[in-house]
Amino acid sequence: MSDGAFPAAHFAARGLNRQHVFNINELPAAILAGLERRPAERQLILLGHAGRQLWDCVQAAGIRGEHPIDDHCRQAVTDFFAEHFPDRPYRLPYPGDAPLGLQALGTLAGWHHTSPFMIGVDRHWGSWFAYRAVILCATDFDPTPIVDYGNPCLDCRAQPCIAACPAGAAGTPFKLNACADERLRPGSPCAYGCQARNACPVGAAHRYDESQIRHSFAQSLAMLRQWRQVPTGRTPDSASQPRTTR
Ligand code: SF4
Ligand code: SF4
Repeated sequence: MSDGAFPAAHFAARGLNRQHVFNINELPAAILAGLERRPAERQLILLGHAGRQLWDCVQAAGIRGEHPIDDHCRQAVTDFFAEHFPDRPYRLPYPGDAPLGLQALGTLAGWHHTSPFMIGVDRHWGSWFAYRAVILCATDFDPTPIVDYGNPCLDCRAQPCIAACPAGAAGTPFKLNACADERLRPGSPCAYGCQARNACPVGAAHRYDESQIRHSFAQSLAMLRQWRQVPTGRTPDSASQPRTTR
């Protein structure tokens, strides 16, 4: 029996204003590899945020700790099932360590288009959106139609993002190690924000608050230092490749 339309308002009110419901049986095997799907799990729900609202919600909730956005999102999911579907099994592979291709899921949802600076973009939000949670659950909501605002890079001749990158990392292909080296360089303007991302004019009205940008980049910089095993303030050894630079 169908559960009807996905109750998007619960998540939208908490700043998780992008949602996509997939039937697991219709997803490519590569997406599910490593998730160890359980028999009761019939749907995968991708939650994202776009624009400033999520950070406003996190700030208003006064959430402390190292990962306040993740904590807020986990709580939103917990509250959703407790309030609306208390008898349905569910689990959250993300946030977490499960191997999961978020951009591959975003592509299937119509959200993701590749940019010269590695972060996904679209014509409406620019790069100011992100994946926040993936739920595997025993539900039967109506699957979400694809919402695709299109790729703004296809007709962007000026490409100010590429010119703004001080390391020459932005472009095709994206130079991951050059970006990592730049971000770890003492005094780099990229330590706590991507200059290429800031230079893209698309979706500028939805640009994150500075405190959110700094928070997110501080986390990715800490991971980068860990992978490169560079103490704060020292120049990195560029031989090892980081998993991410954001
Ligand atoms: S500046 Fe142009 S090429 Fe760069 S991400 Fe934005 S739309 Fe794409
Ligand atoms: S973080 Fe800096 S080096 Fe990396 S892509 Fe952005 S502008 Fe270029």
